[in-house]
Amino acid sequence: MLISSAYTPAANRYDGAMPYRHVGKWGLKLPAISLGLWQNFGDRVPFDQQEAILRRAFDLGITHFDLANNYGPPAGAAEANFGRHLRRSFAQLRHELVISTKAGYDMWPGPYGGPGGSRKYLLDSLDSSLERLGLDYVDIFYSHRFDPDTPLEETIGALDFIVRSGRARYVGISSYSAPRTREALALAADLGTPIIIHQPSYSMLNRWIEEPYSGDDASTGESLLDVLADQKMGCIAFSPLAQGLLTDKYLKADSPTDAAALPGSRASWAPSWRGSMLTKDNLDRVRGLNQIAAQRGQTLAQMAVAWVLRRPEVTSALVGASHVEQLNDTVGALANLDFDQATLTEIDKFAIDSDINIWGSSFL
Ligand code: NAP
Repeated sequence: MLISSAYTPAANRYDGAMPYRHVGKWGLKLPAISLGLWQNFGDRVPFDQQEAILRRAFDLGITHFDLANNYGPPAGAAEANFGRHLRRSFAQLRHELVISTKAGYDMWPGPYGGPGGSRKYLLDSLDSSLERLGLDYVDIFYSHRFDPDTPLEETIGALDFIVRSGRARYVGISSYSAPRTREALALAADLGTPIIIHQPSYSMLNRWIEEPYSGDDASTGESLLDVLADQKMGCIAFSPLAQGLLTDKYLKADSPTDAAALPGSRASWAPSWRGSMLTKDNLDRVRGLNQIAAQRGQTLAQMAVAWVLRRPEVTSALVGASHVEQLNDTVGALANLDFDQATLTEIDKFAIDSDINIWGSSFL
């Protein structure tokens, strides 16, 4: 049984250490670093360990917590646990928080539980998320992925209804390609509910949002970043640490095999971690990046976060953390967000054209 410990947030949490940036042209602001609850807030991590991370995050000025229906493990557990954390630690602080959730991937059995973007799935899923969270509304609800089997009008119509019915303050899309993003924005604008934010994967090792779209209907050849800049849409970049590969943690092991077995690490247990990420060549590249970070007076995690934030299109870096110490380290990125061209070129020498098959890019 947990012993309840009262939480008094740090009085200096808004004293300027954490910048808050507008989501594109919109009024909402997000902290430059946001915390995601994908893998470390399910039932395998002790509740008090989760609590320590969330409280420390808020003390550091992190006001935005990102969830999805399927976060855990098991799916749904992160929302249920976060609901408990809200009641224990943040009950009087709801208006200081931006809480997001999503639907788009597999969630419950049968034809209506995803993956997909039908009105039925999105609304039923969000209602279940709100119940698990113990909330009347979330601040941002995302279509987690484009669904080629549902007309986009239906998905975007559901997002419009979600805002109008009070279930979400704002809506966003995640992992939509450049052309699908343009289509979604146009449909939403017609309905009168703007899509204010995109959540793509982005890191030194995963550049898909910089690259011209090359799908079947490559009519424009635009990159997703081009569209975001043109539409003045916000962007929250997920997995900027490439799930932990862009930190020094796997460099401490003697071999790729030892790295893959590092106790407690995501590489050792999570299905989202691809074994091919820990080859000797990849670790040599990460070692090279680690040296560049050291020359900047940063840890690799700090440089990786600063690197995504260097783009004006990126509102916030959406990180994960399994321990408080990791979060303390990562937030140190804010001390140096500047890059000169020589450093960026040096980074590219190690980070571009690797065969690191990072999880996450666009859907069509
Ligand atoms: P990440 O920040 O790239 O990776 C987090 C992991 O890196 C941690 O769990 C930890 O690994 C390690 N780590 C973090 N800080 C560290 C540090 N300072 N030093 C050493 N290791 C460190 O992000 P992510 O967890 O993959 O994703 C972040 C969030 O993005 C998710 O929680 C979710 O909200 C969102 N996301 C969205 C989608 C989408 O489809 N929209 C997909 C994926 C993620 P260990 O656990 O091994 O300690």
